[in-house]
Amino acid sequence: MSGVSFKFPVTHTSQSHLSAVDWDNLPFGKIFADHMFVMEYANGEWQKGEIIPFGPIDMHPAMSAIHYGQSIFEGMKAYRNQSNEVVLFRPELNARRFAESAARMCMPEIPEDIFLAAVKQLVSLDAAWVTDKPGYALYIRPFMFATDEFVGIKPSDTYKFVIINSPVGAYYAEPVRVKIEEHYTRAAVGGVGRAKAAGNYGASLYPAKLAQQQGFHQLVWTDAKTHTFIEESGTMNIVFVIDDKIITPTEEADTILRGTTKKTVLELARQWGIPVEERPVTVAEIIDAAKTGKLQDAFGAGTAATIAPIALIGYRDEKITLPALETRTLSLKIKAHLDGVKSGAIEDTMHWVQKVG
Ligand SMILES: *Cc1c(COP(=O)(O)O)cnc(C)c1O
Repeated sequence: MSGVSFKFPVTHTSQSHLSAVDWDNLPFGKIFADHMFVMEYANGEWQKGEIIPFGPIDMHPAMSAIHYGQSIFEGMKAYRNQSNEVVLFRPELNARRFAESAARMCMPEIPEDIFLAAVKQLVSLDAAWVTDKPGYALYIRPFMFATDEFVGIKPSDTYKFVIINSPVGAYYAEPVRVKIEEHYTRAAVGGVGRAKAAGNYGASLYPAKLAQQQGFHQLVWTDAKTHTFIEESGTMNIVFVIDDKIITPTEEADTILRGTTKKTVLELARQWGIPVEERPVTVAEIIDAAKTGKLQDAFGAGTAATIAPIALIGYRDEKITLPALETRTLSLKIKAHLDGVKSGAIEDTMHWVQKVG
């Protein structure tokens, strides 16, 4: 990082709508904070960014992103800690991943220090939107899309980078029921699965809807070629506990999104002396462990849901119930630790938390 500090010009909203928010009935991702950050790319470089009142964006009907899909995003959260400060959790990893997603989608990278400065200034301006209600956070959505007004397939010459913020409560109200998907595919080797690219999520909606009609919340994706290896689930990475060992699919192939939450879980586990195996994980071994009672725990890990315990796994015509939640000592301990570091109740020895403003 260059150490340069960026300060973006601000146009303040004439009327905050914070007081209209119903905190006890907060839908996920539908309410937005007062301001947004916008920055345009043109003539081969990023132009000066600015913060403006939240509102619609003008769009040309031939805007390249909606035709050809050069569109990427990030997802992070701001929390209010017990000292009444607003903090981010490992935001530098989001900045780096955003740059990696951009590179894969043939889009211009945003220097990580500019990305972080924009997030921090925007969150700091709308800090009143970060509540200290337990389980709540301000969800931060940076995104970038191609804006050339041209119907023709080529990398766009112009882009828009925008950050919007949305106050949120818990993502899943209950432990999740997942179905192992053996037909549809999220990502193939050599594809864009590692990028947080918009099209990955569009492509997942139909298979996910079929699973939802069968009573599941989410799919567990398997490898595109053989459908015998487990990859990840929805917008969460997946972690299993068998024989007191943490087992999780390796991220070596470019088919799995490299999540901050899972990375943090594995770092914590190693610190605590818990054995961690990052390796190819077969569907067969997980189903076998679940049926023989050896699968002690299984959970999704992601910023939106944090640690989401899996209650049930659907596999072909079977539904296998996992151990009762009270027995999930490891995921409960991990969740409590992460919550504690974010709230300031547990010392942040790993320097995961960054203050805003
Ligand atoms: C965002 C995302 C995750 C989780 O990443 P975090 O950095 O932990 O939030 C996992 N899988 C997919 C497909 C995702 O889009």
